[in-house]
Amino acid sequence: MAKFDYDLITIGAGSGGVRASRLAGKYGARVAVIEESRYGGTCVMRGCVPKKLLVIGAHFAQHFEDAIGFGWSLQGATHDWAKMIAAKDKELERLEGVYKRILRDAGVTLIDGRGVVADAHTVEVDGKRMTAEKILVAAGGWPVTPDFPGHEHVITSNEALDLKQRPKRIFIVGGGYIAVEFAGIFNALGSEVTLVIRSGQLLRGFDQDVRAILGEELEKKGIKIRRDCIIRSVEKKGAAYSVMFDLGEEQIADCVMAATGRAPNTAKLGLKENDVKLNSKGAVVVDEWNRSSVESIFAVGDITDRVNLTPVAINEGRMFAETFFNKKPMTLDYNNIASAVFSQPPVSVVGLSEEEARKNHNVRLFITRFRAMKHTLSGRDERTMMKLVVDKATDKVLGCHMVGDDAPEIIQGLAVALKCGATKAQFDATVGIHPTAAEEFVTMRDPVPEREPEA
Ligand code: NDP
Repeated sequence: MAKFDYDLITIGAGSGGVRASRLAGKYGARVAVIEESRYGGTCVMRGCVPKKLLVIGAHFAQHFEDAIGFGWSLQGATHDWAKMIAAKDKELERLEGVYKRILRDAGVTLIDGRGVVADAHTVEVDGKRMTAEKILVAAGGWPVTPDFPGHEHVITSNEALDLKQRPKRIFIVGGGYIAVEFAGIFNALGSEVTLVIRSGQLLRGFDQDVRAILGEELEKKGIKIRRDCIIRSVEKKGAAYSVMFDLGEEQIADCVMAATGRAPNTAKLGLKENDVKLNSKGAVVVDEWNRSSVESIFAVGDITDRVNLTPVAINEGRMFAETFFNKKPMTLDYNNIASAVFSQPPVSVVGLSEEEARKNHNVRLFITRFRAMKHTLSGRDERTMMKLVVDKATDKVLGCHMVGDDAPEIIQGLAVALKCGATKAQFDATVGIHPTAAEEFVTMRDPVPEREPEA
């Protein structure tokens, strides 16, 4: 008889947990997945997928406006928020079904409930204990909100995706990924949007030109950005909210949303109690094989707070399964992982920002800013920005940055080039596709004049 009930028990059916479980199942392991909420996790149910559907839905507003310059007349176009949310929900239901099916098809047992680690090989679900040779913790993260008086009135991206009505006036606290993405959605659909950021620029950690230019473009679209500003309190006033700012000013909003980061979901999971080491942010500390401080307990995805992106969690899950259930040891290379912010216009980057590159390299910078062809006729005052950060000594392209339509689609291709260690000379030797915006990445010939790094 087998020593354990399962070879693998996974806590959490999000991107990382599902990929690891289904591959392990496919390789013949006896696997159970425990999920307390919906199969698919943050990305599919509360993040990337519903958010992108709403971004696509909202972006039509700009397409309609732009079409006029091309001879279209469009009268009477209206948007029904509730219809869009219902359509999105239907798609999520379909996706949840797909996730369950692919797990079952791989022979994985699905267990609904909250899994808590009871010891190095035991998980308890609603009072029932089950054992496994390995436990994979893939319980993700959860939004954190600032602690000001009235914070209970503040919604997060979880609720923003399910609002019954689109708010007329919304204040969004934060200037990271989620804040700018939701600002774009609500603004395009007609809400008055104010981003409240505690620093001077959006998107901390991104390249300085990207940060500055995205701010300009959002402001051109009518999004207000209150910089160096914090909310002191929020108070309910009838159907609306009174928002007090640090300097004592009051504003009225229909909705206040916080997009102020996410924290790993490690509380009440039985981890610390069972000697699983957590870092100061509460994330599970793992080695390159995704192994925690307890030999039989592993973790992948946002709960480890490494690079909190879906494709990273998927790859961590895949490599965990390949290593331990298919005898093909694999570890993930965290360099040059491309990412995108689905703001309007979108941002996408791969590699180092100018500031990061300057720490270890002498750099040459290539920057272009131009009006995309579409806007010559649409008349829209929107400018695309592309930037290459190149190592002076080796000619290697260290970073590619873009703010503008289709940036994520374009940067995905360039990520392959950076993974291959492409040089600027190889970019130059690449013949562009005309007329596209993407061709600018291979036709930037003159570096920008030397400039002082920003403090
Ligand atoms: P981010 O960490 O990206 O941004 C948090 C923002 O909140 C920052 O602007 C930060 O300001 C601000 N902030 C933090 N605490 C406070 C506070 N107490 N008061 C006021 N402002 C505060 O977090 P998000 O919530 O936007 O996203 C979480 C993570 O989810 C991302 O880091 C990313 O990994 C992932 N994600 C990825 C997406 C994608 O790939 N497209 C989309 C959405 C999320 P400051 O800059 O001053 O620190």
